[in-house]
Amino acid sequence: MGPALFSGPNRNVHPEPSRHLLRIRLPGPLRHDFGFRYFEPMLKITKTDYDALRHHGEETYPHECCGVLLGKFGDDIHTVTSAVRCGNTRDDSPHNRYNIDPRELVKIQSEGRKRGEDIVGFYHSHPDHPAQWSPTDLADAHWIGCSYVITRVAKGKADATNSFKLSGMDENDKKFSDEKIEVS
Ligand SMILES: [Zn+2]
Repeated sequence: MGPALFSGPNRNVHPEPSRHLLRIRLPGPLRHDFGFRYFEPMLKITKTDYDALRHHGEETYPHECCGVLLGKFGDDIHTVTSAVRCGNTRDDSPHNRYNIDPRELVKIQSEGRKRGEDIVGFYHSHPDHPAQWSPTDLADAHWIGCSYVITRVAKGKADATNSFKLSGMDENDKKFSDEKIEVS
C-alpha cells in the first residue's frame, strides 16, 4: 500500500537538532570528547637534544649560537628528533645576531629527508638577554609554521629557554606566538 509509507511520524526527521545541541553545557574535561578539540602549540623534544642546544649557547658565549631542529610536523605539535649545530656566519655582530649559511641549511635539510626528518624549527641563544624574540628575530624568521627556540645565556649559563611558533599567511602577516616546550 503506497500511501501508508507516508503516514505517521517520519523518524528520520528531527526538529532542529542543532539548536538543542548548542544549548548543552558540558563540564570542561568532557568538551574534548565532542570533536571540538583545541590543541595548544607544543614542541616536543628529548632531554638530550634540549640539553645539547642549551650547552651550545654556553659554549659560544658571549656570542650567539644557532642551529636547526629536525623532526616531524603534527597538527599543532612539532616533535624534534635531532638538533643540528650550525656555525654563526655573522661576524659583524655575533653577540646579538645569527645567520645560518643557506648552503649549510640545504645540506641539513637534504640529509634529514633521507632519514624522514623535516626542518621543524631553529634555535639560537641570547647572551645576557631575555629568552624572548626581538623585532630582528621576527624580521629574520621566514619559515612559517616552524618553531623558534631561544635560550638566555646569563653570564655563560643557560638559564631560560622558550619556544615561539611562527604563523601567518605570508611575510607581511607573520607573527610569533608562545609555544609550550615538552621535554621528555
Ligand atoms: Zn634572537
